[in-house]
Amino acid sequence: MNKDTNVVEIRHGVNSTTTFDVERIRADFPILDQSVYGKPLVYFDNGASAQKPRQVIDAMNDIMETNYSNVHRGVHALSQRSTEAYEAVRGKVARFFNAASENEIVFCRGGTEAINVVAYAYGRKFLSAGDEIVISHMEHHSNIVPWQMLRDEIGIVLRVAPIDDDGNFLLDDYEKLLSDKTKLVAMTHVSNALGTIVPIAEVIRLAHDHGARALVDGCQAVQHGAVDMQALDVDFYVFSSHKLYGPTGIGVLYGKEELLNSMPPFMGGGDMITSVSFEKTEFQQAPLRFEAGTPSIVEAIGMGAALDYLDAIGVDNISAHEEGILHYATERLSQVEGLKIIGQASDKAAIISFIMDGVHAHDIGTIIDRAGVAVRVGHHCAQPVMERFGIAATARASFGLYNTPTEVDTLVEALGAVREFFG
Ligand code: PLP
Repeated sequence: MNKDTNVVEIRHGVNSTTTFDVERIRADFPILDQSVYGKPLVYFDNGASAQKPRQVIDAMNDIMETNYSNVHRGVHALSQRSTEAYEAVRGKVARFFNAASENEIVFCRGGTEAINVVAYAYGRKFLSAGDEIVISHMEHHSNIVPWQMLRDEIGIVLRVAPIDDDGNFLLDDYEKLLSDKTKLVAMTHVSNALGTIVPIAEVIRLAHDHGARALVDGCQAVQHGAVDMQALDVDFYVFSSHKLYGPTGIGVLYGKEELLNSMPPFMGGGDMITSVSFEKTEFQQAPLRFEAGTPSIVEAIGMGAALDYLDAIGVDNISAHEEGILHYATERLSQVEGLKIIGQASDKAAIISFIMDGVHAHDIGTIIDRAGVAVRVGHHCAQPVMERFGIAATARASFGLYNTPTEVDTLVEALGAVREFFG
């Protein structure tokens, strides 16, 4: 990594090298070119929501300026063009994540809604009292609360797979929780609070060995590396577009086609039916049966543009770049006096949670904001894992494809000011 130019050389193998030109990528993100409190913005809050490249913004503007109309309904030209553009994104998502069919791609409002669709539509039809769902100790609240609501309603049992003191997922302990009572494993792919990468292929395989279905929460995974639905053989996989450099208001529930078609709709309304009379309503097959009402048309098109953007750069190149940033930042942050990294798993995505002796995480966030550095502070919607480490909150730097080693230096300098302030 050449820290002075922010140009990172990525070695793919003996004969192939790509130059990942961060400055060129940064030029695609208009929002990054600004000062905060007179200091160049350093945006390390990508885990909460990533910034959008010009290509996404343009695609959304373009559809509204040229082809916008409601989808699936009109015979007129604009509606047909709009429908074509919207449905093309479904195909794009299917190809990007190697789904077997675009019918397996359900558009939702985001990751949270996607998990709730499964909890309602799959959970209420296929699960009953005494059935067990296994989650991990690192789940985001959106992969805890829907299952608790289901537990309170129908009496399923929630089991929690443990982690060790470094935040490693304990595969053997997870396996011990599986039995013929296990009907679903609902597991994060990457922990938003610790950065731990869960060995999800093994998790899914073991769930299947016990006759259970597997849902994977990929909200913190898809932006950091390639994910292949067919290779994983996963039953459900969810993610949101806004962490993937696309807009808010759109996300994806991937589900195996047969499984989706065995589930009842989650919401009733227009677009999800084939016929309605006062006596009887027939539902569409998946994915439309789960997309009642006017969908997020412009946002879907923005998400498609984000996937095109990532495809052009190469997801593997992004992974390699972020790995470099993660290693550099881990090394530099480890040298800051009184700083402790929470979550040092052997396999991590580009997320670093940390605390500082005698300093509240909110004070860290507020002070470094004055140096232009944006990080997330708090429990990160993952209170159980904070409790596991005996803390209320951390500061979290989560890195994206446009972050640079120089920005890491700015963070480290700003933390020096925090140290000085608190003595
Ligand atoms: N799961 C994880 C691991 C997350 O990090 C988040 C958001 O932070 C979500 C689920 C929820 O995603 P959304 O807020 O986009 O619905």
